[in-house]
Amino acid sequence: MKQTVVVFYGGKSAEHEVSVVSAFSVIKALDYNQYHIQPMYISYEGVWIKGPLLLEPVANAEQLKFTISDTDEMLLGDGVKTASVGVKTTIGELTKIANVIAFPVLHGPNGEDGTIQGLFETLNIPYVGANVIASAAGMDKIISKEIFTAVKIPQVPYVAVRNVDWEDRRADMVAAIAALTYPVFVKPANMGSSVGISKVTAEAELEAAMAEAFLYDRRIVVEQGVTAREVEVAVLGNERPEVSVAGEITPEGESHSFYTYKAKYADSSTQLVIPAPLDEGVYEQIVAYAKKAYIALDGTGVSRADFFVTADNSIYLNELNTMPGFTPVSMFPLLWAESGLPYDQLLNRMIELAQARFAQTA
Ligand code: ATP
Ligand code: MG
Ligand code: MG
Ligand code: MG
Repeated sequence: MKQTVVVFYGGKSAEHEVSVVSAFSVIKALDYNQYHIQPMYISYEGVWIKGPLLLEPVANAEQLKFTISDTDEMLLGDGVKTASVGVKTTIGELTKIANVIAFPVLHGPNGEDGTIQGLFETLNIPYVGANVIASAAGMDKIISKEIFTAVKIPQVPYVAVRNVDWEDRRADMVAAIAALTYPVFVKPANMGSSVGISKVTAEAELEAAMAEAFLYDRRIVVEQGVTAREVEVAVLGNERPEVSVAGEITPEGESHSFYTYKAKYADSSTQLVIPAPLDEGVYEQIVAYAKKAYIALDGTGVSRADFFVTADNSIYLNELNTMPGFTPVSMFPLLWAESGLPYDQLLNRMIELAQARFAQTA
């Protein structure tokens, strides 16, 4: 009996569009001989929508470039919004399907943060990717930094700021931030795709950057900016994680001073160099830190570990993304392809890992 893979995408998240693009690639690449594929779109409002018509915009997306500016067209399909071509449903749907597996291709809050994973967990539905604890801790830049500090993985200095601190004790917070050297990076604690992130070059810009980040979360991290290369590795596995070759991001456009949302999805000037040219010993150290970080968060399935490497080869872990981008031009699948695991096989492997974990805990 074929396994039914229910692919979740969209979601109540500022990374909704990115998720749609990631999921369209996943839905196209999954093996239809091996699996029965069921798309499950989650609207911006959080409504679950199913139905075979959801596959139409995916099929139509063939000719489209996979950039975010095209996402609306993809969602529109034949002039009909994805949300309106399907049928509203709920989690109950999944419990009725035999041999079902959930594949959440969701980025950001309400999808990458352990919430939907917890729902699957309580209903005994196996699911692809990171478990509850890794998802929740990995999504939260404050919690994950504290865990990485505890296991002695080098990171840039930072200050955590709650909205109430910013209201009640602003002078203290500004003083703590002043101990960092400008530029600093202001980030919402729970977000991704660079949404809500600002590079702040002087204290005068701090206020606006904080306000922007607080649009997305009650908690913020202000990080020391580093002048460094951006190097990423992909992690795959449960108890014995494997690490891919390293890739480097080289944003070249004048339009961005760091790896912004636009540079990630809408700007062809950003190049991914795979494998990244690294001095001897640097790659090995990155692999060791990536595994350590993954195990520290109790990672399962997949993650992408983002590092900074300075000119003198100092290595800092920036973050661990438990549901990395999955578009055909995303770093995570490209790293595995270069490591000998092409996109379709990577998806099979992720499903196998989910089954293996479920078999252990069931
Ligand atoms: P994603 O999940 O898509 O990787 P994110 O929203 O979690 O992104 P970060 O990866 O933390 O955000 O930061 C986004 C980008 O901002 C980095 O790729 C880098 O270009 C820049 N950046 C972030 N922090 C720093 C820093 N401390 N020093 C220098 N550049 C930074
Ligand atoms: Mg991230
Ligand atoms: Mg992310
Ligand atoms: Mg990142």
